[in-house]
Amino acid sequence: MTKQPFPLTPIEVKVLIRCPLHYHFLQQSPSTPIDSTQAALDNLVRENIQQLHAAGGPDRLSLEDCLSKVASQPRARQMVERYYHRLKQDWSRMIAGNEAMSLKISIGGVSLILKATLDRLDKTSDGGVLAILFRTGKGPPPTPDSLRDDPTMTVYHALVAATYPLKRPVRIQELWLQLNQDVTIELSEDEYRHNLARLREPVRALARGEVMARPGLHCDVCPFKYRGCPVYVHDEDAESEPDDFVPPDSGGKMSPRKWIFKI
Ligand code: SF4
Repeated sequence: MTKQPFPLTPIEVKVLIRCPLHYHFLQQSPSTPIDSTQAALDNLVRENIQQLHAAGGPDRLSLEDCLSKVASQPRARQMVERYYHRLKQDWSRMIAGNEAMSLKISIGGVSLILKATLDRLDKTSDGGVLAILFRTGKGPPPTPDSLRDDPTMTVYHALVAATYPLKRPVRIQELWLQLNQDVTIELSEDEYRHNLARLREPVRALARGEVMARPGLHCDVCPFKYRGCPVYVHDEDAESEPDDFVPPDSGGKMSPRKWIFKI
């Protein structure tokens, strides 16, 4: 069993829970973003917002200077301008921006290092901390319920709670900059523990050197569906090499097959 801690980002935790084989493929060949235009827009907006934070906020950087690098990009300009006005109201609450965090934890006897960079952290009027995550896509934003069920939020919660041990409660907010909308959640102790517990089985398998394919509706957006995933190889091909696989049992949402591979 592997003793080295596994480094995991929030998105890797989500992928690992959903399909450990997808996570394994990503480790082997980190892919370029599916939508490179959106990725470039996201980088541009984040860069400008972080410069605004670093300059000391709207009182220290004029709107004109803040927008100078996005002047020729209408969507980016709109997002940064909206954020600028919003930050004017919020600046006194802000504690930090672009803060890198890490946390070593053990789940199911397996050591993990959770890592992420939080876009912004604010203090709240009830003594807590609000972690804000910028979203630059078109949306629609998630519902609070889907966000509560999202393992990435649990990872952010764990990181913020460990980094700010004296600030409670911890709340996480997605701020959708194109829409100027936000969704804020506060996880209960039960939700937090339940979400983290979903990692137990996949990380224990990883530590044993195994990955499991978990086919489901998410396969439709998996970049490896027709680029190496054996679940979607023609059945006859799969059946011709039975020794590679542990016998399947019921587990997948769409398919009753479950595939386990030694790595
Ligand atoms: S196609 Fe589905 S089963 Fe195959 S790796 Fe991707 S998510 Fe997993």
